[in-house]
Amino acid sequence: MKIVVFIQKDNEKISRNSLETLAGVQKLDGVSEVVAVTFNEDTANLTSQYNVAKVLCVTNDELQNYNPLHFTTTMEKIINSESPDIVAFGHTYQARDWVPRLSARLDVPFISDCTELSLEEKAIFTRQVYQGKINADLYGDGLLLVSVQSGSYRADEIESGNSNIEMIDVDLSSVDNSIRPGEKFQETKGGVDLTRADVVVCVGRGIGKEENIPLMEELTSALNAELGSSRPVVDYGWLPHERQVGSSGQSVTPKMYLAVGISGAVQHQVGMKGSDNIVAINKDGNAPIFEIADYGVIGDLFEIIPKLTDSIKDFKS
Ligand code: FAD
Repeated sequence: MKIVVFIQKDNEKISRNSLETLAGVQKLDGVSEVVAVTFNEDTANLTSQYNVAKVLCVTNDELQNYNPLHFTTTMEKIINSESPDIVAFGHTYQARDWVPRLSARLDVPFISDCTELSLEEKAIFTRQVYQGKINADLYGDGLLLVSVQSGSYRADEIESGNSNIEMIDVDLSSVDNSIRPGEKFQETKGGVDLTRADVVVCVGRGIGKEENIPLMEELTSALNAELGSSRPVVDYGWLPHERQVGSSGQSVTPKMYLAVGISGAVQHQVGMKGSDNIVAINKDGNAPIFEIADYGVIGDLFEIIPKLTDSIKDFKS
């Protein structure tokens, strides 16, 4: 089985979701060849330090800024020349935009937002349905396009290597360039970078009202942590969007992630389930967050948080 992994550029780095996808593909037993494909030379150089059969770098100028028409035609040509069984992408906003177009162009299935890849007699792709209540295993024959949900695999478990880079140029003259990309949408403006924090304390709707946020800020400061939030807290205007964790916020992988009054909806989980240790405090023992928590406390946050903050302060003094 041959797998092509698309490596997306993210500013001057590689998109973490691409690295996670490559790490997930590397873990599969029975793969004969993993080929990384990227449309940027710097990204190719960074990718060559990982264990892949080769890195294909397409250097056309037209690919230096995202354009779904150029991306689609380029990948179509690569698929025709490499004949992979699977082409894997991180489930990024870009992939959501251009991979369905590729799927339609090639008339092959696109299994999107997978949380697990496995190889048995066939390749099996697990994806969540019904708001994360059920996991569905999907498989198919022939070429398949798949995208992998952020946080499904750990980027720091990627296998290192020293791979050759093959530079190629493709003929894109036939592309009718009818799409003019605007300025890149910036999800997070402002100075809070939750991705660098070792400890993230995240507050959800269970906090009840804005006046209760200082309770969480006190705990966050005692832990030398960063304060994050679920989306409703941002939607209500209790915290700014730069603190939102989840599919439409930041993705974090701290050493400890403390979820307080958060149910654990799938859109929240994708932004934090790669954390080393997940601790959840919730008064509902059936909250989905407990399914991914390493440690769980079932109880009222208004009883627990002040005592927890006091104990941490005592411990530190
Ligand atoms: P709720 O689901 O309402 O959960 C509140 C929890 O608090 C409950 O489990 C309750 O038991 C608990 N609780 C209440 N009182 C207490 C108490 N006193 N003590 C302890 N526990 C208590 N969500 C995100 O978080 N991030 C995203 O990026 C995101 N993007 C989205 C994108 C799309 C396209 C869509 C459709 C949704 C998105 N969402 C996102 C929303 C997501 O679906 C959920 O609605 C949201 O995550 C729920 O937030 P919550 O857990 O804070 O609130």
